Amino acid sequence: MAIKHHWTKEEILAIYNKPFMELLYEAATVHRKHHDPNTVQVSTLLSIKTGGCPEDCGYCPQAARYHTDIEGNGLMSVNQVKAQALRAKSAGSSRVCMGAAWRNVKDGPEFDDVLEMVRTINKLDMEVCCTLGMLTENQAKRLEEAGLYAYNHNLDTSEEYYKEVISTRGYEDRLETLGNVRKTNVTVCSGGIIGMGESKEDRAGMLVALARLNPQPESVPINALVPVEGTPMEEQEPVPIWDMVRMVATTRIVMPETQVRLSAGRTNMSREGQAMCFFAGANSIFAGDKLLTTPNPDVSEDMLMFKDLGLNVQKPFEKHAQRKSVEKEEAKVEALGEKPKWSRPGHKIERNLEAQGKKVKA
Ligand code: SF4
Repeated sequence: MAIKHHWTKEEILAIYNKPFMELLYEAATVHRKHHDPNTVQVSTLLSIKTGGCPEDCGYCPQAARYHTDIEGNGLMSVNQVKAQALRAKSAGSSRVCMGAAWRNVKDGPEFDDVLEMVRTINKLDMEVCCTLGMLTENQAKRLEEAGLYAYNHNLDTSEEYYKEVISTRGYEDRLETLGNVRKTNVTVCSGGIIGMGESKEDRAGMLVALARLNPQPESVPINALVPVEGTPMEEQEPVPIWDMVRMVATTRIVMPETQVRLSAGRTNMSREGQAMCFFAGANSIFAGDKLLTTPNPDVSEDMLMFKDLGLNVQKPFEKHAQRKSVEKEEAKVEALGEKPKWSRPGHKIERNLEAQGKKVKA
């Protein structure tokens, strides 16, 4: 099924503004065509270096210039990260995302440690993701060699509204980092935050920027702002659940194959609200009591919700194996009896076959 990339803001806005029930039905229909509607990925977000960031993102308590209650920490050790990853795995997570409050990655001992963390988590048979700030092509390649599965770098909002949120870097810097990740086989994770005072047009504008990327990001986190005292956005009103569902549904329709991640802000959402998001196409959540520094529901509460909704937890590397394009590649690979290679950026065919218990011919 061909993926549409040439979306306009008007088209996306028209989807976002549809009558609610119609929007929900359309999004759920797209979701069922491209994904198992009863499977949700559980990821764990780990802050490996907290606070003291030189950037000025208006929503972020980790920016050094804001006076918040965040307790800063230097880079965790590889052993600490391994222990946390094992704990996350035993609680049902298939993916660990490591976040460091850096403006950009600097080559040196700390980056070497992060590479070792990536290798370590990879050996635990978990998808490993990093969010470390801006990245050069060479650094992206080094992360790829270490076994990184995904790199997160959010666009946050529309290009037009971006300067209201951040002044210490530009939209083009963000896109450049995403481009550097795309030059490797690491998958791209990029999304944004709603509730920062942006308009519906800005929400649509962010989705245009993401949907026009070719390939589209494999993963798009949708966050609801959690206003933190001491940040410029401390007074923002909470995001209505209807807006969150509309944003998830619109993301699902314009990026049908993408994993849509219901991210920050879940503590303010009822289970019924979250169920609507799953119905509208969200197929990933972050587990654990903290999302970097913001509160998050307890894992056991999430597991109870999954039980009530009859949702299954996705296994690591399972997602791409479900894609029709990947299945075709697998068939070709098996017919040729060749050792599989990457089919296109981010899709590790060999891993998919192994995940399904199939033998890869040498
Ligand atoms: S969002 Fe990231 S880059 Fe921005 S201030 Fe927070 S840690 Fe720094």
